[in-house]
Amino acid sequence: MSRRPSRWFALPLLGLVLPIEAAEARGPVRAGSDCIRVVYEAPKKAAFREIYESMRRQRVLERVGAIVGLARLPTRLTYRLKECAGEPNAWYAPESRSVTLCYELVAGVHKVAPKTRSPAGVSHHDAIVGPVAQILMHESGHALFDLLRVPIFGREEDAADQLASYALLQLGGREARTVVNGSAYFFATTGKSEPIDHGGFADVHGFSWQRFYNLACLAYGSDEKRFGYVVAKGYLPKERAEGCGEEYDQVAFAFDRLIVPHLRVRPGGGERLRRAFRGAARGR
Ligand SMILES: [Zn+2]
Repeated sequence: MSRRPSRWFALPLLGLVLPIEAAEARGPVRAGSDCIRVVYEAPKKAAFREIYESMRRQRVLERVGAIVGLARLPTRLTYRLKECAGEPNAWYAPESRSVTLCYELVAGVHKVAPKTRSPAGVSHHDAIVGPVAQILMHESGHALFDLLRVPIFGREEDAADQLASYALLQLGGREARTVVNGSAYFFATTGKSEPIDHGGFADVHGFSWQRFYNLACLAYGSDEKRFGYVVAKGYLPKERAEGCGEEYDQVAFAFDRLIVPHLRVRPGGGERLRRAFRGAARGR
């Protein structure tokens, strides 16, 4: 369960041209919860400087950490943004109990984002915020499975995707749509250049297009009105869509049984859970 490379992360590397500033070392920024530590390592590479500034300013790691910090963790969990010697990756490391997000991966997300809006209507903002949130919550899923000793049937990579999608859908409204639209865009974009070969079939992760449909299905299953467009516009086949309510309920049931008992706030119902998640993500 150490490093988890993913085909998400096998992105062609970047030609970002960003303002050059002198690299400046700063101390770690800590999140509010005692059990969550957040570290933004200042990048040496000038091209990553804007990502560093922007993610610190928006307190991205703190927000994800605040959601995960709703759980009573037996030990401290660290979120770290760092340079990874050119590798566009993210992983959870059980030995150090840390989630690492590489600048290279965030830069890859920036690189494939549309300048203003994709032909399907996904905005530049959503195409960046969505996948970054999904990636961080996916790795947080691995962390929760490990730290809370959550039993898993099926592939852990699929379970981490389901937990991430479920948690982010609880944010509701505009934020949930940002994650769904942005992550779906990212899966679809990476899926276009992904080889369908034995390596892909043998991989611990699903293909990007499978992850796209799984996300679309959970979103539609969570709220058929709010996410009705994923079926109406043909992104999710009707045959799959018919069972998405049940698929969503299956994940909700697993979450209730396996994660909710570990939460500091006992939600006791869907709306209270959503309020707790939204409050944590907004720093309240
Ligand atoms: Zn994973």
